[in-house]
Amino acid sequence: MSNDQKRENGYCSFCGSPASENIQLFLGNSSSICTRCIQMLYQHLSDYNLLEKKSQFNLDFNNLPTPIELKEFLDQYIIGQEEAKKVLSVAVYNHYKRLHFNYKKNEPLNIELDKTNVLLIGPTGTGKTLLAQTLAKKLNVPFAIADATTLTEAGYVGDDVENILVRLIQNANGNIEDAQKGIIYIDEIDKISRKSENRSITRDVSGEGVQQALLKIIEGTVARVPPQGGRKHPNQSVIEIDTSNILFICGGAFVGLEQIITNRIKKQKIGFLSQTDETKIQKQSSILNQVTNDDLVHFGLIPELIGRIPMRISLEELTVDDLIHIITQPKNAILKQYQTLLSFDKTQLEFSDEAINLVAKKAIENQTGARGIRSIIESIMIDTMYKLPSISGEKKVFVDCNNNELTTIISHQENSTSKSKKQHTGNGDEN
Ligand code: ADP
Repeated sequence: MSNDQKRENGYCSFCGSPASENIQLFLGNSSSICTRCIQMLYQHLSDYNLLEKKSQFNLDFNNLPTPIELKEFLDQYIIGQEEAKKVLSVAVYNHYKRLHFNYKKNEPLNIELDKTNVLLIGPTGTGKTLLAQTLAKKLNVPFAIADATTLTEAGYVGDDVENILVRLIQNANGNIEDAQKGIIYIDEIDKISRKSENRSITRDVSGEGVQQALLKIIEGTVARVPPQGGRKHPNQSVIEIDTSNILFICGGAFVGLEQIITNRIKKQKIGFLSQTDETKIQKQSSILNQVTNDDLVHFGLIPELIGRIPMRISLEELTVDDLIHIITQPKNAILKQYQTLLSFDKTQLEFSDEAINLVAKKAIENQTGARGIRSIIESIMIDTMYKLPSISGEKKVFVDCNNNELTTIISHQENSTSKSKKQHTGNGDEN
């Protein structure tokens, strides 16, 4: 039977099923399709991420937050890092302004505005990831985080570099247009430095190889990625995504970079160092601010990649005072989070100033920046959180400091006070 005949006789042109009580037919010009086939197709499209997804992000180009508004938003979540917040707000504002003008096809500019990807240089736990994440939240654009150390060049064991894009697409709920305006944060970019400054004959698949692969994506390409991630293989459906408007923010601690910069400055000024030069060289954040392309090449990044990340922003090491503020002040400060959590068990949580001070000092000792705060507080609270739900009525938990140890006191209106003392182990694992 021809398709025309099937259609006229009330059969599905695809599976040949006749129309029935349970199966409806949709008639086209020369063929028909039944509801069962439509359902199968729908499932297939959805499995392979091929359904057009509604946008869930609403970056409004005509109403872009100004750099001042962006910085004010960052201030609610990020303590310190004033210069970094300011510079990044300007960079991100300019990025989306440029994108807006590129999109206005009917008013073409006679000048091409280059993309300015950003490199954040600063110790662990100083807020690099948080900065990128918070900006994406304010702008209402999709955001993805990738760890450069898990990436390898396509075809080698590890995560293909292109999988970064898969993550962004997934976070954009499958909407490619949204994903193409998103932000990707690549963490630990310093850990994929070249093994040696001289190009060697042996392949460096997790260092230079990854940098080469990243370069293509960062500078802008139409990448073909498997919708579900993983390795590409023949006959697999792929999604195309243009990366030219994705903002890449790369971050790393770059341990050893200060020394490279200092040595260079000293060499340049040999014999001519004034007292002020010496002091300038010594301050860590100001050293990092003087980073040049050559310093980064010396560190192990390839020149082509450095050229594609032209904006350099250094973050400062957090002080005890900064950490105290981080524990108590931001909108989602860790202390506020625990207070909310305990309030579900009718418990009021209070930390003495000395206790907060001690937590901050321990985080500094552990060299984990603000990253270690959660695990320090978690380790002192665990005993308490274990007991609390079994105690009825209104309770109060007071965390104090005694002989350089954190102590917790649970007081309860009906029961007598139960006191537990716990020495913090000092193992500030990363959260
Ligand atoms: P990095 O990327 O620099 O290693 P993160 O941004 O991942 O550090 O920080 C880890 C956690 O520490 C964040 O989720 C946040 O809770 C806290 N944190 C770090 N720096 C700051 C900061 N400057 N202000 C507020 N919180 C911070």
